[in-house]
Amino acid sequence: MPKRYTVTSALPYANGPLHIGHIAGAYLPADIFVRYLRLRGEDVVYVCGSDEYGAAITMKAQKEKTTPRAIVDKYHTMMKSAFERFGIAFDIYHRTTEPIHTETSQGIFLKLYEKGEFDEQESEQYFDEVANQFLADRYIMGTCPKCGNENAYGDQCERCGSALSPTDLINPHSTLSGSKLVLRKTKHWYLPMNKYESWLKEWIVKEKQNTWKTNVYGQCKSWIEGGLQSRAMTRDLDWGVPVPLPNAEGKVLYVWLDAPIGYISATREWAKQNGKNWEDYWKNPDTELYHFVGKDNIVFHCIIFPIILKAHGEFILPTNVPANEFLNLEGDKLSTSRNWAVWLHEYLDEFPDKQDVLRYVLGSILPETKDSEFTWKDYQARNNNELVAILGNFVNRPNNLIPKFFAGVMPAQYELSDYDKNVLAELASYPDRIGDLIKNFKFRDALSEVMNVARLGNKYLADTEPWKIKDNPERIATILNISVQIIANLSILLKPFLPRTAEKLDKMLGFDGKLTWEDAKNTNWVKAGTLLQKIDLLFEKIEDDVIEKQIQKLTINNQQQTTNNQQSQTIAMANHSNEVKPLQTPINYDDFTKLDIRIATIVAAEKVAKANKLLKLTLETGIDTRIVVSGIAEHFSPEEVVGKQVTLLANLAPREIRGIQSQGMILMATDKDGKLRFLQPSEAVVNGAIVS
Ligand SMILES: [Zn+2]
Repeated sequence: MPKRYTVTSALPYANGPLHIGHIAGAYLPADIFVRYLRLRGEDVVYVCGSDEYGAAITMKAQKEKTTPRAIVDKYHTMMKSAFERFGIAFDIYHRTTEPIHTETSQGIFLKLYEKGEFDEQESEQYFDEVANQFLADRYIMGTCPKCGNENAYGDQCERCGSALSPTDLINPHSTLSGSKLVLRKTKHWYLPMNKYESWLKEWIVKEKQNTWKTNVYGQCKSWIEGGLQSRAMTRDLDWGVPVPLPNAEGKVLYVWLDAPIGYISATREWAKQNGKNWEDYWKNPDTELYHFVGKDNIVFHCIIFPIILKAHGEFILPTNVPANEFLNLEGDKLSTSRNWAVWLHEYLDEFPDKQDVLRYVLGSILPETKDSEFTWKDYQARNNNELVAILGNFVNRPNNLIPKFFAGVMPAQYELSDYDKNVLAELASYPDRIGDLIKNFKFRDALSEVMNVARLGNKYLADTEPWKIKDNPERIATILNISVQIIANLSILLKPFLPRTAEKLDKMLGFDGKLTWEDAKNTNWVKAGTLLQKIDLLFEKIEDDVIEKQIQKLTINNQQQTTNNQQSQTIAMANHSNEVKPLQTPINYDDFTKLDIRIATIVAAEKVAKANKLLKLTLETGIDTRIVVSGIAEHFSPEEVVGKQVTLLANLAPREIRGIQSQGMILMATDKDGKLRFLQPSEAVVNGAIVS
């Protein structure tokens, strides 16, 4: 009798593309888990979708001068396609802007409302009289009371990292209109979470102590013991699921209330399309529910969502929330705002046949118990030293030897030596061991055990050396038969981790794909006489230049983003009434004289290949002819700038950008609409003229 499982991965927020940190957090582990359960023949639904509501979406729309709908359509399409190409095997990838989601989340809200689970509270919140609306925390900027940063947001200061509320800010103003804000009364529905403290102590602190991961359990325990506050479950915003009550105009459900309900609405939609009963997967106590998330989502999935499910009364609660810690990149935190990331869609464009390489590398470094780190050098090493040298090498030997010795036909097994028997016994022991690791969310160890099967095969061939055997065709046949049995079982054990590689092995062995995890315990099931297909090499070596290019790309993206961020901050400042950027810390004249600023003329310009924002400029500086790479390609065409005199910071240390040595920086002014302007002398001067 198969067991029923509902598995979810955190709904990614539809305001940007996916990067490898997301994948290592909530998607690859869940995908491995689900593929394993399916091989076991369990009844599994694996749901996910785009989280499309909330203030961060409307802000992104404002920034890109478009509508929230256009933003969510763009990123939903992008993420859905990236997941498909990467091979995350959702049963459905839904979206929270679908009508069935509105209906589901409103239904749950109403049920809670009718049961008296909410506290109605009036509070004073900032209102923008020019834009005529209440503002979400992110729309409010002001001075951080902790560090004095004048560009702190209503929920957080990004300079010192303090969590803030809008009323903490000094001189709060609206980022919509730039105007000063007034406090106005508004009504919201709060979930009094403290009411559930004793239940949470029972359900999590007592019951989950031995089954939840220590990082997850520890966080939950400290929250519960620290005391839980009421949290508003509604917001004043026009982009979200409308609060289904009279006199609630302009109010929507808090995005963290409606997002996890997205799992339920996705399941409903899937059930409708597949003739299933969705309630089996959410209301039947025999069903096990698993939420895969990153550590920043633990509180929502372990505390808030379970309280909502419990308060509602009809739903099952999560069996486990195997949250991962964070993945870092090349010694730094992954960051969308600094563009310090390996973007999944870009990776898939650049390495269209290397999904499994990334799955392998990420699977080997999943941040299961603590933060871990992705580096391109490690990616290269794991590909070359493990996938190519161990797995690829092992498979390739029988792949070459069987066509040579047996015309591609699976040879028979003759008398087995003790050594053969030991190898087969060891082979048969892997499925249970790997399965236990997967069930306990130890995916790294599980993957490493799968590689041990390939190591076993390599060692077996190295010890028996069939290519050296003379005058004993039966012995050669037996050794190659056993090697193929190892490949066959490996193809099953690899399926949760490297599905495309497993498919290639199936092709080699002529399988039709209807195999189960249990089949991997049988060590003699590829029948003699089966026609084997010779396949191409499974993996190829990745050379240094490929890796260097990726490392360089990271640095350039990051530099461009830093420039962009500085520009948009300048624009944001320019838009706020008449505020301009405050004076910097004073310097003395000696500091100033260290800057070698001079006038130069652009004599040639060209676009930098594969870099939208960069122009390669040749400058006549009076002292030399030099190259400067400048991030102005979105503002000027190469033809436009040739012949212009510009202001050059000439003694800035040279820097390599996209393989080009850039000597200096062209000084620009940013207009209020974000347009860049050259700083030019009012009349032409000789090249090299000093600015002082
Ligand atoms: Zn601060």
